[in-house]
Amino acid sequence: MGLFDGKIAIVTGGARGVGEVTVRQLLIQGARVAIFDRLAEGAKKKFKDHEERILEITVDVSNLSDVEKAVRLVGETYHRIDVIVNNAGILQDNFIEEMTEEEWDQVIDINLKGSFNCCKAVTPYMKRQKYGKIVNVSSLAALGATARVNYAASKAGIQGMTRALALELGHSGIFVNAVAPGYIETDMSRVSEAFASKRGIADFDSFKKAYIAKNPIQRFGQPEDVANVIEFLASDKSAYVTGQIIYVSGSPGL
Ligand code: NAD
Repeated sequence: MGLFDGKIAIVTGGARGVGEVTVRQLLIQGARVAIFDRLAEGAKKKFKDHEERILEITVDVSNLSDVEKAVRLVGETYHRIDVIVNNAGILQDNFIEEMTEEEWDQVIDINLKGSFNCCKAVTPYMKRQKYGKIVNVSSLAALGATARVNYAASKAGIQGMTRALALELGHSGIFVNAVAPGYIETDMSRVSEAFASKRGIADFDSFKKAYIAKNPIQRFGQPEDVANVIEFLASDKSAYVTGQIIYVSGSPGL
């Protein structure tokens, strides 16, 4: 018996990183999973033994009509949507004076509006079923991060959206929670390294050492650390938890 036997889940950004591990864990626990990703094509191959329970859909979450089309396809294929994990996200770091309008817009459009688009598109299905689990992916950066006004604003916005939707949708049987990861070792952390000089970090290795030194658990996070909490929030083990933000950062704060 798996935690998600018979359940239908959507994971945005499921082609790699935290999303990929989340997809794998949901599959192992019995779910059918639709991967919404700009890189979705061929993603199935990463999930050997479970390929027949995966739908890969190439979609840019920042485009509402694309998202609605993709959600309709999931609805037509599986006839219900139990879980959505809004995990797709990007970084475009820069100090405020150098940050372009495009860098601001891209990050807000993908991270914040993308999560809104997906929540909006699945809500009618979840309301009809009187059941749904929405898990949004925020970040420790919501508390503030240098040269990341766009990213921090998008991730803080996700926290507000999570609480607002939990209030709006709770009586329809829909739970809305978020995880807020700290430094997790994925491709995105390599993007972060590439942007280090834009954040005034001359030596990224020393920056990483200092991060670990001040972290109570004394290590970086792994995608599994985040996926485990997402799994809890997406399952019926969190049956009296809604509107919560769980920091997965090995630390109580910054
Ligand atoms: P990643 O870059 O490894 O993976 C992100 C995935 O999202 C990719 O598969 C990418 O193709 C997809 N994606 C990006 N833009 C998209 C779009 N417009 N439409 C559809 N798919 C899109 O990143 P990750 O580290 O696995 O991060 C996953 C989530 O966790 C993100 O929301 C990120 O902001 C958040 N997060 C990551 C860290 C970290 O340190 N890695 C820390 C805090 C929060």
